[in-house]
Amino acid sequence: MELSFDAVSVNEAFSRTAVAMFMAQLDPTLEQIDDVKTAVSEAVTNAIIHGYNENEPEKQVKMKCMYDENRILTIKIIDEGIGIKNIDKAMQPLYTSKPQMERSGMGFSFMQAFMDSLVVESECGRGTTVTMTKKL
Ligand code: ATP
Ligand code: MG
Repeated sequence: MELSFDAVSVNEAFSRTAVAMFMAQLDPTLEQIDDVKTAVSEAVTNAIIHGYNENEPEKQVKMKCMYDENRILTIKIIDEGIGIKNIDKAMQPLYTSKPQMERSGMGFSFMQAFMDSLVVESECGRGTTVTMTKKL
């Protein structure tokens, strides 16, 4: 499944619901649905507020979802925004580049906690791809 939606905050809720609908065919537990929804909304929020400049309807966030015969769900959240200069630093718990916005710097930690794997690829000026997997 591949979706593309405008980089505006209302679409955080949309992306959560969309991934839950996609997962439904795999007959997941309620806990698994909640975990994946949380991880997806963290990644999508990051794409919108960090990758882009908060509300840029002319910019797009992509979400790709797939699963294999072993019930491993893979989700990619892709933006073509500013990118991340130091990925290791960005992924540290409590690190945020926007403390003035009352961000807690826990988004990547939540993604890591709620999913089985998390890989962040990014290039300055080109954008960021977050790939997460979870076995259902
Ligand atoms: P919180 O998620 O707790 O509200 P946060 O978004 O700052 O705070 P993380 O989600 O862990 O914390 O992200 C850490 C940092 O990584 C961000 O502050 C930002 O600098 C950078 N970052 C994350 N995702 C992106 C992205 N898609 N594009 C550019 N920078 C990003
Ligand atoms: Mg975040």
